Amino acid sequence: MPLKIFLGDRLVDEADAKISVFDHGLLYGDGVFEGIRVYGGKVFLHEEHIERLFESARAIRLEIPLAPDRLMRAVEETVAANNIGDGYIRLVVTRGAGGLGLDIRKTSHPQIIIIADKISLYPEETYTRGMNLVTASTIRNHPAALSPRIKSLNYLNNILARIEGTDAGMVEALMLNHKGEVAECTGDNIFIVKNGVLKTPPPDAGILEGLTRHAVMRLAREAGYPVLESTMTRHDIYTADECFLTGTAAEVVAVVTLDGRKIGAGEPGPMTRDLLSRFRTLTRTGAWK
Ligand code: PMP
Repeated sequence: MPLKIFLGDRLVDEADAKISVFDHGLLYGDGVFEGIRVYGGKVFLHEEHIERLFESARAIRLEIPLAPDRLMRAVEETVAANNIGDGYIRLVVTRGAGGLGLDIRKTSHPQIIIIADKISLYPEETYTRGMNLVTASTIRNHPAALSPRIKSLNYLNNILARIEGTDAGMVEALMLNHKGEVAECTGDNIFIVKNGVLKTPPPDAGILEGLTRHAVMRLAREAGYPVLESTMTRHDIYTADECFLTGTAAEVVAVVTLDGRKIGAGEPGPMTRDLLSRFRTLTRTGAWK
């Protein structure tokens, strides 16, 4: 079934969802986006995603042409028009069409694109067995060059690291920052468990502050686990009791090896399994509001 796409200010047929080849989103990766989950027809962490989108836009001096509440309605209209129960939304705002130069004053009409579709998930086996990771040699963008806190359309940094993961036969790859500290994976945040304490790199390690990361930290605190944002190196992962990733698509997924080294017992650990189960309860019951 062809999708209905929200483009500009209305829903159009998939075949009519076209934008200019002069759009700076295409020419330069000049724009911002969000990836959002729909559970049981409800948009997960909707306000938080819209807030992060507006923050990313502000950081690149892009004015989103719809107000946040209108944009939220547009997302909901797109979900409803495509009859999405459990699915995924890609919300994109480009700088709009301009000249072939970099000057943003020559662009006009930022484009809003909303796609709501089914989601392709990791097989359940990935959750029960855990995944393997390698460290990419491509480091995360230097925050003074392009802040990883901006969820921009320029994802080449992540794509280059992901290629290294794919070449090694893995579905994710670990990225270090310019100081050699652990930052995150190419599309997921990373956590470790050591002596009962849940630890994750802080925002200034050069990470995108994932909304799943935030939700999992909250669930962990509610469960009584100590939670710490702390700078870490690969040593901390190699010697951790447990390790897992969080992300909109992945949710909570155990990591059982890094660079061929077994982490902990080499299987999803008890805190990881508990947090995955709590996260699934939260999302499957619509209890996050
Ligand atoms: N880091 C990066 C680089 C990402 O692209 C994502 C996915 N958006 C995440 C972390 C996880 O963020 P979230 O939990 O909001 O999906």
